[in-house]
This record gives sequence, C-alpha cells and structure tokens, in this order.
Amino acid sequence: MSSEYSTDELMDYDEVMRRFDVVLGLEVHVELNTRSKMWCGCSTEFGAEPNTHTCPVCLGLPGSLPVVNKKAVEAAIRIGLSLGCSIAPWCRFARKQYFYPDMPKNYQVSQYDEPIAFDGEVTLELDGERYVVPIERAHMEEDAGKSVHMGGSTGRIQGSDYSLMDYNRAGVPLIEIVTKPIFGTGTRGPEVARAYMAFLRDMVRALGVSEARMEQGNLRCDANVSLMPKGSTQLGTRSETKNVNSLRSVEAALRYEICRQGAVLAAGGRVKQETRMWNETGEFTTSGRSKEQAEDYRYLPEPDLVPVAPSREWVEELRASLPELPAAKAARLRKEWGFSELEMRDIHGSEGALDLIEATVAAGADPASARKWWITELARQANEAGVPLAEVGVSAEQVARVQRLVDAGSLNDRLARTVLAAVAAGQGEPEVIIERRGLAIVSDEGALAAAVAAAIEANPGVAEKIRGGKVQAAGALIGAVMKQMHGKADAARVRELVLEQLS
Ligand code: ADP
Ligand code: ZN
Ligand code: MG
Repeated sequence: MSSEYSTDELMDYDEVMRRFDVVLGLEVHVELNTRSKMWCGCSTEFGAEPNTHTCPVCLGLPGSLPVVNKKAVEAAIRIGLSLGCSIAPWCRFARKQYFYPDMPKNYQVSQYDEPIAFDGEVTLELDGERYVVPIERAHMEEDAGKSVHMGGSTGRIQGSDYSLMDYNRAGVPLIEIVTKPIFGTGTRGPEVARAYMAFLRDMVRALGVSEARMEQGNLRCDANVSLMPKGSTQLGTRSETKNVNSLRSVEAALRYEICRQGAVLAAGGRVKQETRMWNETGEFTTSGRSKEQAEDYRYLPEPDLVPVAPSREWVEELRASLPELPAAKAARLRKEWGFSELEMRDIHGSEGALDLIEATVAAGADPASARKWWITELARQANEAGVPLAEVGVSAEQVARVQRLVDAGSLNDRLARTVLAAVAAGQGEPEVIIERRGLAIVSDEGALAAAVAAAIEANPGVAEKIRGGKVQAAGALIGAVMKQMHGKADAARVRELVLEQLS
C-alpha cells in the first residue's frame, strides 16, 4: 500500500500555472490546552497510561451527561475574535453520527449550522505581497480516542493481529477553523497555505490556548485544492488531503495535488472528489475515501447540552484583553526598529528571536546590536547545541549588558563574542568571565602607544606608505598591534594612534 513512489502523472508546476487558477480550502484542527476535557473533568494530560483519563461521560456510557467546558468556549471565542469573526449570540452543539471504534458514543459532538464564530478574514504578507484568506467559521468539537494496532511490525492496521483502544484523548477539546474558498493566490497558493498555517500556529500560541506542536498533532490541516481553467469562473472539483501535520508538508502536498490535477485535467479526465493521504517519506498523495456521494452524518442538535449564549459583555471583555498578535507585533517592531524586510526575514527564520531581541532592546541595547547577537553568534551556539534560541543559556539582559560594555569601549566585538560564548557555556556572569579571563580591552594608553610604536618600527615599508598618504595601508599595522595585544585593544583607537604617530 505504501510504495514510496508516486504512480501519478504530474504536470510541470509552471505549466499548470499558465493554464489554470488555483482555489484552496483549508480546514485546521487546533487541539486546545485546557486542563480538563470538553464535557467532563477528566485530565487532558498527554502520555498517561491508556484509559486512565476516562469516565462515564468520555466513554459514552448510557445515562451520563456532558457539561460544556467554559475555558474551551472562552478559547473558541478568543480564536474567533482574533480571526476577525462575528461571535454567535446563541449557538448549539450538534451530533455528527458515524461509527468508528475510537468514538465510543458513535457520534461526535461538534457544531453544524450554528458555529460559535463565523465570517472572518486573515491578511497574510509574503515578501511584501498581501493575500486575503476569508474565514468561513471556527467551531467547537471533541477529539476522538486512539486505536493502537498490535502484533504487526509497523504499528499500522495492515498486518496487525488485533487493535486496542485508548480513550484518553476522547473528548479533548478541538477548535476547527474552516476557510471559504481562497482565490487569487496566483502562483503562490501552496506558500500562502503554509504562511496561513504558520499564522495560526503563532496566533494560538500568543493566545495561550494551544501548544500548537504540529509534530504532536496539536495542529492538523486538511488541505483542499481544485483547479479552474484560466478564464473560467466555475469551481473545479476538489481533492482533500487529510491530516497534514507540518508546515513543509502542507506546502508540498498542495503542490503535488496541483501538479496531479493539472495532468488529469489536461488529459481530458476529471478530478475525483475524494480524500487523499500524504505520504511523508515519498512526498506524494494517495487516494483515500471517495466523497462523491455526500456523506450522511444525520446531524441533529445535541439534546444533552444547553446552547452556548455568550453575553455581549463577556465577548467585549475578551476582545479587549486579546494580546497583540505576532504578525501585528512584528510589523510594529519592524517600524520601531527601522529594519528592512530582509533584516526581519532573518529574525522570522529563527524561532523565538523576535521576542529575545525585543527583551534585549527593553534591557537597554540598540535594536541593531540586539539583532546582531541573536541572529549570528547566539543562533550559531543554539544551533550547535541543538537547543531552541531561548535556551541557549544567555539571557536578553546579559546580552544587553555585554553590548553596554562594547558601547563603553571595554569590549570589542570579538571579545564580546568570546564572553557570550562563555556565558552560554555556563561559565557565569559576563563581568565575572571578563575579570577571570582578562578579556577586557587594554585601555592603558601608554601600553597601546608602545605597541603601536613597536609595530611601526617592525614594518618600516608600511609606515613609509602611510606617511606618503596611503592611509589604507594602516590595516597592516593595526593587525600587528591587535595581534600583539591578543585582540584586547580597541581597533578604532589603535588606528587613531597609528595615524597620529605617523603624521
Ligand atoms: P467537507 O466537510 O466535506 O470537507 P467543506 O464544505 O467543509 O467540506 O469544505 C472543505 C473546505 O474546502 C472548505 O475550506 C471550503 O471552503 C473548501 N472548498 C469547497 N469547495 C472547494 C473547491 N471547489 N475547491 C477548493 N476548495 C474548496
Ligand atoms: Zn471523562
Ligand atoms: Mg473536510
């Protein structure tokens, strides 16, 4: 079943772009980080012994009654507001009926025609170009349990002897965010989808409502895409690639589907409406379940739960307390700091860098220096140690202090790098390290002047050139002095002394 090669005909991406317009639709599930489940008090903690976080409600036992988790409703409203949605003054839950062993009630409690949040919009910026993603709805629902397939070698159902059920995840709150069809992404549809996922990830983290770890399935995307021949206004048939769980994969899966559908349509075929699976290793999609017949979930209003009717006061209170969202914050800081798009891109490329630079600036450093340390020296150290930037072992406050010493002329950049590396290596506070290892710049003018005189004497040819007006030649003498001082001199001051002594 999972041959690592694609058997699909693919059209060259640029060729598809010349002949078709892309339409996207993204359905994203966000797993909330509430402490208890959606309808009961069971813990949502990850990784517990199977079926230890269960009760009659989340096991769907007859006669048990659910009660909605207020924190989950609050999270849904805050997500809705952050997406620019309207919040329903009154809405109900609905039963979505289907049988699957990981769902003990034989229906999932979700929302159907009455979502708590609807009609929003997200604007994304990619290299200065703006793209609008219209939001259809954000609704509340519950996660299912997990099937564990035993006896096989791969952990998959194929080749396994029997399956066990773990209901710890059953009833964990989810928010599903669904876009309207997204038009107008030109040649950049897959990148826009990726940027949208990154936006949602950063958004729910800033809201503090989800850990949003894609690799753990906290954020999963069903990626729909269809093609329309250029000039046509009639929507094409879409495919839906299920449960894509990394930013890279969202982009790659859509790109693949676009090239596959292009080839189908160009050969006079028609795209089947179906779900597809993303093969992570082979980087292609395979056919899943056909969706040509509308599925009949026999939705009905959930009779065991009272409708959710958030008061306008509560909604406005939540709106007023929304944090500044990461994208807005980045745009504001960019202006305040006077950075170019390019300078910001380096910062975005390094997770956590924006906040660390902000904290370093707050601790007194200038933005350019703060940026320089975090995205060069400290990023390199974090990378080598294989830890996130925030855990490199140097605080924003320490970086600001080291920069203050550079500004005061007690350290040059090279010495500052050594000091920061030592702090990262756990050798203590910057000042202690400088003292213990004698890293401060020698500011003894007498010693400097003597070193400069010695360098001039040792390099008469160079000295002659400088006297003759070739000031560029001073570099060689400065280098010689720095070497003699083991790097612990202020190069600018040495240069002054060289020119002074030779004038
Ligand atoms: P389902 O529940 O079967 O997945 P939805 O109506 O929820 O169906 O639609 C799924 C997503 O696909 C939505 O984001 C929707 O905007 C989008 N979509 C609908 N039709 C198309 C289409 N023809 N091409 C691309 N995306 C589409
Ligand atoms: Zn429970
Ligand atoms: Mg769907």
